[in-house]
Amino acid sequence: MEDMRNFKSLPNSYWIASTDTTDYPELQQDIAVDTLIVGGGMVGIITAYLLNKEGIQTAILEAGRIAMGTTAHTTAKITSQHGILYDKIKNQRGLDIASQYAQANEMAICEIKNISQACKIECDYLPQAAIVYTQQDKNVEKIEKEIETASELGIKASWVDEIPFPITIKGGMKFEDQAQFHPRKFLIPLAEKNTSEGVQLYENTRAVDLEYGDKTTVITVQGKKITANRVIIASHYPFYNKHGMYYSRLYTERAYAIAFTAKEKYPGGMYINAEDPSRSLRFQPYKGGELMIAVGENHKTGQGDDMNNHYHELIRFADRVFTMKDLLYRWSTQDCMTLDGVPYVGRYQHDRPNLYVATGFEKWGMSNSMASAALLRDLIIKGTSPWQEVYDPSRKNIAGQIKTFIVENADLAKHLIMGKLAPIPENAEIQQGEGKVIEADGGRTGAYRDEKGKLHLVNTTCTHMGCELNWNSAERSWDCPCHGSRFTWSGEIIDGPAVDPLTAEQDVNTIEKLIKDEF
Ligand SMILES: Cc1cc2nc3c(=O)[nH]c(=O)nc-3n(C[C@H](O)[C@H](O)[C@H](O)COP(=O)(O)OP(=O)(O)OC[C@H]3O[C@@H](n4cnc5c(N)ncnc54)[C@H](O)[C@@H]3O)c2cc1C
Repeated sequence: MEDMRNFKSLPNSYWIASTDTTDYPELQQDIAVDTLIVGGGMVGIITAYLLNKEGIQTAILEAGRIAMGTTAHTTAKITSQHGILYDKIKNQRGLDIASQYAQANEMAICEIKNISQACKIECDYLPQAAIVYTQQDKNVEKIEKEIETASELGIKASWVDEIPFPITIKGGMKFEDQAQFHPRKFLIPLAEKNTSEGVQLYENTRAVDLEYGDKTTVITVQGKKITANRVIIASHYPFYNKHGMYYSRLYTERAYAIAFTAKEKYPGGMYINAEDPSRSLRFQPYKGGELMIAVGENHKTGQGDDMNNHYHELIRFADRVFTMKDLLYRWSTQDCMTLDGVPYVGRYQHDRPNLYVATGFEKWGMSNSMASAALLRDLIIKGTSPWQEVYDPSRKNIAGQIKTFIVENADLAKHLIMGKLAPIPENAEIQQGEGKVIEADGGRTGAYRDEKGKLHLVNTTCTHMGCELNWNSAERSWDCPCHGSRFTWSGEIIDGPAVDPLTAEQDVNTIEKLIKDEF
């Protein structure tokens, strides 16, 4: 049965709704800096903070407003428990490498707290245990092994038989001394501190190109040039496409979140299951009470049918676990996924020593952003980091997996080529609030009719690498199934790697006539 609560009219992310918007200037002239960071999310802002503390002259370019990307739509658990991962790293790459990952992420939990205390930032940081649970027999042994490996690595990990919700489980794994926070309450004051101490921060200044050299030049959408000794790409999915072939080893996955009040008191802890469909739970202090946050329903960006169903499923899950009072917020977002479950952080490519990257956080980018910032600082200042090997974007085990990735993701090529050849559904009336691909002059046009009845057209070929875009009914956006770029119904970029908006080649009146004639 379809859930009748009208989630579509709810405000978006609670993290955005509960904080003020920032207002930093656009870059208006060419500049030269020591280090340029492209992207003002969790990675960009913390990295600027750490570099500035070392006396490095730093600037950040942000395409929109800072801390409004994935970081503003996260669940914001700060934990070194990233599903079931340590045993996999140990088996693939050895205990020492797994140990680097554990140390980096355990450090990050404390360091976010240290920074918030040192900078007097109130960000609702709360110590919590993190629990992965399973409802399937097949995952029990995996969890047992993960506990063994995590314990070997010095993490306080233990077995649990039950969790304090009406969910029957086969078992679970608890990590002590983890935490949760409010990401924008942390980052907005940190960005203010950065700028008050000399970091240059430019909003609404998208980087669209990069010319690598002894001095690297980054070009903005407004045509301004930034010359830098080094550049850090912290744009979530790397915006730079010419080298490194990150598109052949990254994909994006979306997930959905709802926030609501409930009759029950939240029992403490942060929970996630080990299987699909994914389910993640935490609470957030809210107006003297509690806001429950449920997240889940992973899928590859741009793939699947009616995206509204993901919200319906999540609401059904929340109704089974809690007695929901008010459904208050809903949002969705996406993260970059790597081939082996470990992010790519470090030198962008070995023959480009002054270009750095931090991406592929696998939905565990809070602690990994902090770890990335420290790793990049160490590479820049000392030339080496104790964790560089585990995160190395050019690691050898990835090379072997690229082939498998391409085979497994043959759907990517299918979308790339077949998308253009596939039959277009018959043109039909487009209701208000609805988007569709329609046929005009033998080509495909994306059409969306807004709430006032006005039709908006876009060319549905992604400006990144030419894949065909799909309509996302829940967020009213055009989403790329290949590399995760997303565009508004009017063609503006929501998520990269695309750096150019969509254009419309068709005339609205012609399309209106076409629809009427066929309807
Ligand atoms: C549903 C979901 C739940 C999650 N929950 C958790 C969790 O509980 N714990 C956890 O650890 N992690 C979680 N994550 C992951 C985490 O939120 C992300 O990994 C992290 O926020 C990524 O930070 P970022 O700085 O790399 O990206 P972003 O926050 O997206 O920042 C990148 C910035 O770069 C800007 N940008 C992009 N292109 C350009 C360009 N060309 N020029 C200039 N600027 C540009 C963007 O506008 C954006 O502001 C979750 C992810 C998802 C999808």
